[in-house]
Amino acid sequence: MSPSLHLVARVSPDLRAGPPAGLYDYLIPEELRGQLRLGQRVVVPFGRRRVFAFVVELLDDSPIEQLRPLERIRDEEPLLLPHQISLAQWIAAHYLCPLPEVLRAMIPPALRTGKATSRRLGSPKATAKEPAAPAKSLARLDLTPEQEEVFAPIRDAISWSRADEFLLFGVTGSGKTEVYLAAIKAALALGKGAIVLVPEISLTPQTEKRFLVHFPGIVAVLHSGLTVAERGREWRRVRAGQAQVVVGSRSAVFAPMANPGVVIVDEEDSSSYKQYDAMPRYQAADVARHLGRILSVPVVLGSATPRLEAYQQALGAKGLRLLRMPHRFGGRPLPPVEVVDLREELAWGNRSPFSRRLTELVTETLSEGGQGILFLNRRGTSSVVLCRSCGEALGCPNCSVSLTLHFEGRLCTCHYCDHQVALPEQCPTCGSRLLRALGAGTERIEAEARELWPEARILRMDRDTVGHRDAHREIYEAFVRRDADLLIGTQMVAKGWDLPGVRLVGIVNADIALHFPDFRAAEKTFSLLTQVAGRAGRGDEPAQVILQTYSPDHSAIQLASAHDYEGFAAMELEVRRQLRFPPFTRLLVLTRSDPSDREAREQAEREALRLRGLLEGSGVEVLGPSPAFIPRLRSLYRWQLTIRATRLEAVRPHLPEGRGWAIDVDPA
Ligand code: ADP
Ligand code: ZN
Ligand code: ZN
Repeated sequence: MSPSLHLVARVSPDLRAGPPAGLYDYLIPEELRGQLRLGQRVVVPFGRRRVFAFVVELLDDSPIEQLRPLERIRDEEPLLLPHQISLAQWIAAHYLCPLPEVLRAMIPPALRTGKATSRRLGSPKATAKEPAAPAKSLARLDLTPEQEEVFAPIRDAISWSRADEFLLFGVTGSGKTEVYLAAIKAALALGKGAIVLVPEISLTPQTEKRFLVHFPGIVAVLHSGLTVAERGREWRRVRAGQAQVVVGSRSAVFAPMANPGVVIVDEEDSSSYKQYDAMPRYQAADVARHLGRILSVPVVLGSATPRLEAYQQALGAKGLRLLRMPHRFGGRPLPPVEVVDLREELAWGNRSPFSRRLTELVTETLSEGGQGILFLNRRGTSSVVLCRSCGEALGCPNCSVSLTLHFEGRLCTCHYCDHQVALPEQCPTCGSRLLRALGAGTERIEAEARELWPEARILRMDRDTVGHRDAHREIYEAFVRRDADLLIGTQMVAKGWDLPGVRLVGIVNADIALHFPDFRAAEKTFSLLTQVAGRAGRGDEPAQVILQTYSPDHSAIQLASAHDYEGFAAMELEVRRQLRFPPFTRLLVLTRSDPSDREAREQAEREALRLRGLLEGSGVEVLGPSPAFIPRLRSLYRWQLTIRATRLEAVRPHLPEGRGWAIDVDPA
């Protein structure tokens, strides 16, 4: 963008503490006219202070009279690029978040503070040893015919700089990464760069290496495990044009790359792309798509189990184009999945978490020197009530999601509509008295495994054993080196890993995800099971998956064991249509937090009444209030309203503002 002779700068002050300010207009002093650029920081008088502020608009006029002049330019080189200001404005509008919060999230902390930023921008220290050489790939790359076929339209879109959006639906092991690498090369050949988003948890050294080998010296890696200084350094390398390939987790979508030629989102269904606990509550895959539109470059979303939202759009050719890779690389088969009915185990008298079949296969695998993974999704373990006779979970009659058990009061509630029932004595479906809170945790599984297989070398990976990022790497690398025989873990072990030594995957209890109190439970279960099963059989030896469940007839489980994503999607989309859930409607969750539980609930009730009054007859539903999924967080009580509509636009002007309320658009 060329400098302009505008008279007024609209800026977003970057306050270091406290709630964010809004936008403010300042007069551009005569000597600075024509010099200001969007995204540049300036110093402005703010109350009695002087603060940094981002220029977000340049205007000829302002509705405010008697503007104060801004003081000076802070950075010669704008920290943010003009297209990033547009992206920030879109995020602010789409996710209903103040623009200053979005801008704050876009800049790494090292660059926000006062010291040593502007002059360094063009010459980050760490690049002294980097060759500034043209991007030449060392590794050769031969695509298979199947990969070649999906790559062709992507390559076209890159060379014609078209904002095409692709959904690369490829089974686990089909070689999606290979296609990404080819796309990056095509972009580099045009003198452009590439932004690649990967789920936080799969940013293993293995993933990094795959990119570093192909694009030596020009890869910047951005993830939450970096120190503030490292993150700042990587960011500067991108901003200065020294790193043309960015590989990073969610926030890497904000990498300050002037001319990406392609934007790639690997495992686009990963929940790590949704920021839910801080503003802006954005979905990075959706932000990436918008980035592509702003820059007019293609976006590739890849997954073996795409979000139904994305898949539905791709099926209808609405926005996304579907590209399929149904086969694994090298003609390897997808591993056979054997479903074990835990009700029968119980009837037989087996109360251990391992069925006879799983025990037998683990023993066999270990004796043959193979590696095994025992997978357990522990999240939400004790909050859902399951009947051990018929396998049904206590559910909400209105929303068809599982009820959540609250221990005080032994009350079961729906966290969408607040339907409540006392914990029944007997199963409402079959009358059995075997109603139990769901499942054992990973620790207990580990203890039992050590007892059963005392000679096996066992590693456990879950949130408790992975306090910091390095621990995750260490456990992962130890397993790859085959320093362990059995890996016991939560969903952390599910994603993206390429482990050729794994001959057996045991899914200890598939039901935990299935009965998660969320309308996406079936989808999440299907994806998780598919991803976990996908860890097996990536080497040359045959592999097997054992799936243990109390609901062997559930369609998500049956279809996952048949590796049938499209069959599952067709069925689940029909359910969503009938129950009016996304992608057929959109949701917005309003959460009220307060030190007092009563106050939080009453505020939410008042808000529900107000909104219902305002939105009467508009087709917008206001569900709740109900306790939030996490009813108490950081010593605040949380109650929520769920707003459901085919279009959310009508709701926006009426939403509550101010402290105490959090807004989550398209919650995950
Ligand atoms: P996905 O990401 O789809 O699960 P990967 O990209 O990890 O699959 O590929 C699976 C395995 O197949 C990897 O070990 C990868 O190196 C190998 N592979 C895939 N495509 C090719 C290719 N064209 N040439 C050589 N190896 C390939
Ligand atoms: Zn029952
Ligand atoms: Zn309900």
